[in-house]
Amino acid sequence: MPADTAHTPDREKTEGEQELARLFSLQKQAYLAAPYPTYSERIDRLDLLIRLTETNEDKFIEAISADFGNRSSFETVVAEIVVTVSGAKHARKHLKHWMRPRGVATPVHMLPAKSRIEPQPLGVVGIISPWNYPLQLALAPAAAALAAGNRVLIKPSELTPRLSEVLQQAIASQFDETVCAVVTGGVGTGQAFTETPFDHFLFTGSTAVGARVAQAAAKNLTPVTLELGGKSPAIIDDSADIGDAAKSIAYGKMLNAGQTCVAPDYVLTPHAKLDATVEAIAGAARKLYPAIDTTDDYTSIISDRHFARLKSMIEKVRDQGVKIVEVGSSNALHPQRKLPLTIMIDPPVDSDVMKEEIFGPILPILPADTTDAAVQHVNAGDRPLALYWYGKDDNARDYILQNTVSGGVTVNDALWHVAQENLPFGGVGKSGIGSYHGEAGFTTFSHMKPVFYQSRFANGSIMHPPYTDKTSKILSFVRKII
Ligand code: NAD
Repeated sequence: MPADTAHTPDREKTEGEQELARLFSLQKQAYLAAPYPTYSERIDRLDLLIRLTETNEDKFIEAISADFGNRSSFETVVAEIVVTVSGAKHARKHLKHWMRPRGVATPVHMLPAKSRIEPQPLGVVGIISPWNYPLQLALAPAAAALAAGNRVLIKPSELTPRLSEVLQQAIASQFDETVCAVVTGGVGTGQAFTETPFDHFLFTGSTAVGARVAQAAAKNLTPVTLELGGKSPAIIDDSADIGDAAKSIAYGKMLNAGQTCVAPDYVLTPHAKLDATVEAIAGAARKLYPAIDTTDDYTSIISDRHFARLKSMIEKVRDQGVKIVEVGSSNALHPQRKLPLTIMIDPPVDSDVMKEEIFGPILPILPADTTDAAVQHVNAGDRPLALYWYGKDDNARDYILQNTVSGGVTVNDALWHVAQENLPFGGVGKSGIGSYHGEAGFTTFSHMKPVFYQSRFANGSIMHPPYTDKTSKILSFVRKII
């Protein structure tokens, strides 16, 4: 990996930045020479992406696990390989339909003209991906951008250097670098990347960095899709089966050790059911991972810095006298940085765990006696990326759906809306701008170009100057029929 420093305009470019400039220029020229890849060229590109994902599966599993300290190979297969391949296959299956020009109605006073929306590739797309699902969050947007006919440069996170290297080699082994390539480097390369005049950016990462990316992109007026984070609530309604909700919340929180953008961040449950909720979630967690220190099923925290941040969040709340339930071993010096599920009962609203996105296996559980109290709690914070609601009372469910704004929702489970390719995936407000997955990804990476086909029988010149009584009469007639 090249050395990297903070980006300043007057210093010499680092190796990573030079490589970025070279690849961007190559891809831009290639785009200008061939701006509209055919359907079969795009299918070939999706096939290459599927092939490189599947044939390098073992290398990806090993690299990601080495980057994390330990990453469950099952979870890598499910959340990285399967999600990426199924998204690319979905695009392959629907591409012909997505590429078609969409005819739209033409108003009567413009007839017999025709109007169509014709999807067109944007050009060269930049993708900045985070460390938490380093393969899926690089390749799933790449598949969408390639399906839409673009060329793609990917800048993965510096926190997963082994995966970045394997990914770079895997992409180079299948793709011509004028079509798809990986640029590695640290924050300096990331900044140079955001200052590059791409035709579109998709950034996945934190809200704070997302805002910086949007500012840098604005200088070139490069449009951005920002896939960010936030505090996603899990709301247990009075009508819910606590056992079922607990199983789902424990799984959603402990997958990838809570380092999932759509993990349930905290739980709201009726006051009278607080103890039962804590017991049920702790019980479910014990069944999922009976011995976190020794099992390879449970994923490590990505770095010492991230581990220390989570431990500090716990200790600060413990010092405030908040009741904490640690589910399983709490060996803070574990060489693989495994952190047990740590449940906190009703921590103060101004504690770090209630102010920041947790992004680890810490689960605050707070009382909310009514649907309205839950709504007020959610709406007092930034708009979350995901919201989970558990219960049987349809009126309460609809009240939550109509009175809260979140990126997406799964009812009576966690995480699933993300895996449904027919649903757009993205945040709202501080949790993101725009969306991808399925057709939403195709349109995000396309210019949906409006084209008006004038008829040879049209006579638009009857409204041209010089303006006379006749043109005024025609205008009056048009105003009556529109
Ligand atoms: P991050 O914002 O620290 O980094 C994301 C990427 O941005 C990395 O590649 C990093 O190298 C790069 N980067 C850092 N500073 C930069 C800068 N100044 N300019 C340009 N690029 C820069 O995020 P992270 O810690 O890697 O990931 C965790 C966050 O990502 C969490 O907030 C999580 O919720 C969010 N996330 C969101 C989604 C989603 O789909 N919405 C998915 C996964 C993670």
